[in-house]
Amino acid sequence: MENTIQYLKEIPYYGHFDVIVLGGGPAGVCAAIEAADNKKTVLLVETTGMLGGMATSGLVGPFMTCYDRDGNILVVGGIFRRIIDKLNQYNAVYKPEELDSPSIHTSFIERYHRHVTAFDSFALQIVLDEMTQDAGVEVMLYTRFVDCICENGKIQKVVLAALEGLVAVDADVYIDCTGNADVANAAGVNTYKGEERSSVPQPATLMFEVGGVQDEGFMTRSARPELPVKAYRTPLDGKYKVNHYRVFDVDATNSQSMTKAHIKARRQVLDAYKVLREKTQGFENAQIAQVAPVLGVRESRHITGKYKITVNDIINGTKFDDRIATYGYGMDVHPRNEKESGNFKIEVAQKYYIPYRSLIPEGIDNLIVAGKTISCESQAAGGLRCMPCAMAMGQAAGVASALAVENNCMPENISIDTLQTILKSKGAILD
Ligand SMILES: Cc1cc2nc3c(=O)[nH]c(=O)nc-3n(C[C@H](O)[C@H](O)[C@H](O)COP(=O)(O)OP(=O)(O)OC[C@H]3O[C@@H](n4cnc5c(N)ncnc54)[C@H](O)[C@@H]3O)c2cc1C
Repeated sequence: MENTIQYLKEIPYYGHFDVIVLGGGPAGVCAAIEAADNKKTVLLVETTGMLGGMATSGLVGPFMTCYDRDGNILVVGGIFRRIIDKLNQYNAVYKPEELDSPSIHTSFIERYHRHVTAFDSFALQIVLDEMTQDAGVEVMLYTRFVDCICENGKIQKVVLAALEGLVAVDADVYIDCTGNADVANAAGVNTYKGEERSSVPQPATLMFEVGGVQDEGFMTRSARPELPVKAYRTPLDGKYKVNHYRVFDVDATNSQSMTKAHIKARRQVLDAYKVLREKTQGFENAQIAQVAPVLGVRESRHITGKYKITVNDIINGTKFDDRIATYGYGMDVHPRNEKESGNFKIEVAQKYYIPYRSLIPEGIDNLIVAGKTISCESQAAGGLRCMPCAMAMGQAAGVASALAVENNCMPENISIDTLQTILKSKGAILD
């Protein structure tokens, strides 16, 4: 057993909110905005200095498709569309209906990539600041969830590491959008990491952006280098997001593991940049514009919830009565070690659904989980982890939290009919 010490301390109490959202990524921001739009007092806690999660601090993009498997029918609307419309006001987005695959916006990938949404990540930071402010969300950046106090199957208080020190806050309902299921895990919910048998997660990638690319040199698939450095054109002239090498077996819940992985990934960025400049038409004069401050983690913990979405559900398109989101992207499971190859090994249904029960953890009553850590088989998460789906889940979690507060009940006991009616009235697509 590791050595331990006991640490007892009085810490400031920062007050009560109807809803506290931990983690300000695609799921968390949407959850917070939605709960606040439903007239609840909301605190949104984010450990970095920006909202957007992987979409901003991870420089991940484009938003993956919001259409069905074959790219013909729109399956994600709601708050995702509101974000696109706001980005459009800054001329910082190519809307999904404007883009098709294969193209420079999909790095010439064809399968499942019709109608992606190319966006500028700094504009997204601005848009998310505006949307949270307009909704009246209280945002605490640079503040990390570290622990919670639980009694009688409920979270009573959460402990946050603010810049001024540890502080406590509480709420009627908590929403865990940390991408690591940090809150669920600290509250004692059963979680598992990565692939069920091996616990190995999907690999991590440090994303970066280059500017000064001559598009006309890169317009055809044959322009891609032998080593396919995947580069995705953003809405800004000559600017591309690069998603290339991978670091395997990274435990995103362990500082040592993340430290080693990030250092390795930084070297990989240099290697990828070299391949781009030396072997890729159009990139001869490209310059690194920015490297993501945060390592891109595709998979971490999954919670054990009231329902575990299976691979078969994704293959068959199981139409759950309590569905709160629809998606159509393929099961994008990257190799888990250097010897494996290929993703998209199993074909998905034309569209598939996310049941509300998979956001409700077993064992803690006043907690909802949204985003990539919901209750599902590791492989099933391959598609639904993408940002449009995470936003749709966040929106549903936000509405559900507001309903639980209004009805003085636990999230598990809200009316699903009412939840679905509100979601549809806000543009969510559930059929
Ligand atoms: C390399 C890579 C490429 C990808 N490519 C695409 C793509 O092209 N298109 C696409 O749509 N999706 C893509 N994805 C998937 C997508 O980015 C994520 O699955 C998605 O962002 C998940 O959203 P989330 O809100 O669940 O989690 P995250 O985006 O991970 O957000 C979690 C947030 O919580 C914060 N946080 C973490 N711990 C704490 C804590 N203890 N306290 C407070 N805050 C905390 C984090 O800082 C972060 O802001 C990619 C992912 C990676 C890693």
